[in-house]
Amino acid sequence: MAKKLCKLAKKGKLDEIAALALNARFICAKCGRTAAWSENLCKPRKIKVEG
Ligand SMILES: [Zn+2]
Repeated sequence: MAKKLCKLAKKGKLDEIAALALNARFICAKCGRTAAWSENLCKPRKIKVEG
């Protein structure tokens, strides 16, 4: 099962958070964290990329 950034943050797993946040394409609508994969967020929303 995929790790949720939202949970990692509570545990202070900054290294894992940083790795998952690289090239972020999704943002969590609930906690505002970003991740490259929607499965790592509890309420993922795709980040709109301009240009
Ligand atoms: Zn979240």
